[in-house]
Amino acid sequence: MNYGGYFEGIVGHEFQKQALWRAVCEGRVSHAYMFSGMEGIGKRLVATGFAKCLNCLELQRRKGEEMHEKCGCFSCKKIEKGVHPDVFLVEYEGVRDIKVNQVREEIEERIFLRPFEGRYKVAVIDEAERMNVSAQNAFLKTLEEPPVDSVIVLVTSRPEFLLPTIHSRCQRIEFKPLPFNLIREELVKRGLSNEEAHIASMLSGGSLGRAIRIDRGLLTERKSVIEAICALRTIRDISVISRVVEHILGKGHLNDTDRVSFFLQLIAFWLRDIMFVKIGLKEDQISNKDLLPVIKKAAGRFSLSGILEILSFLEEAWYVIFRGNANKQIVLENLLVKIIDTAGD
Ligand SMILES: [Zn+2]
Repeated sequence: MNYGGYFEGIVGHEFQKQALWRAVCEGRVSHAYMFSGMEGIGKRLVATGFAKCLNCLELQRRKGEEMHEKCGCFSCKKIEKGVHPDVFLVEYEGVRDIKVNQVREEIEERIFLRPFEGRYKVAVIDEAERMNVSAQNAFLKTLEEPPVDSVIVLVTSRPEFLLPTIHSRCQRIEFKPLPFNLIREELVKRGLSNEEAHIASMLSGGSLGRAIRIDRGLLTERKSVIEAICALRTIRDISVISRVVEHILGKGHLNDTDRVSFFLQLIAFWLRDIMFVKIGLKEDQISNKDLLPVIKKAAGRFSLSGILEILSFLEEAWYVIFRGNANKQIVLENLLVKIIDTAGD
């Protein structure tokens, strides 16, 4: 199926893209949509593609007939550049709460104007869950009596923070996490090695945005950190432990929470890999495929119940570092001691 290039470059979500395109072609467009799903998977990009379909001059002329090339009409080009007068994105970066006056000034006043040149006025509201309750209540009136020729798209990764009355007035389009292989392919296209792309796709949990944000330098350090942890032996040599912790924290990065968070997550995935090897899962399921020999060796030293114990210890470590602001060095040292104590020789 070809969508005329409206969603060009957006990875995955074929069903959603097709459903939106069809709705436009068949004249079944709703006044309000809620695009929900985890952050970084392309909801906002799909919303822009949808805005293109809604206002595309070619699509109207061809009455929904399939187009095999990317559309180059004025409307599509303007939307792509973000300069179409009838399509606007409302985003509130760094703002905790979207308040009533912002909803009035930045959304309602604009959406109630008649389209200047397009067929529809399209408002895409990013992180809609940031609207506080009074803002949501104010916004509800617009949803109840939407202006003609308007389409509102609420984009949210936390739909549970939006009132049920808002939900019931929107057509909900759910976006699932992306399959790992799609993320992997995209990362390889962007220059990552197969191994790095593989582990980054696993760590991303299905969010391409998250995968892209993972620091390349950290991915490079991954191997040496795992190898150092695997090399820890049962003797509690504190100088060896401290060296590994310093390696994890990195020189001059003591307050880098992204770094600590990355390595804690990596340790969790390493434990998961050991568990997978122990229960005989396929190699495809292993995140650190390139470290398989080291992981296989480690699998002989840990019991399944021991791994689960370390995982719950790790969860606690995460909590005290990120919620309780505990000393990272001490918490990580304790975690490594726990790993040593749990392992056999
Ligand atoms: Zn077009």
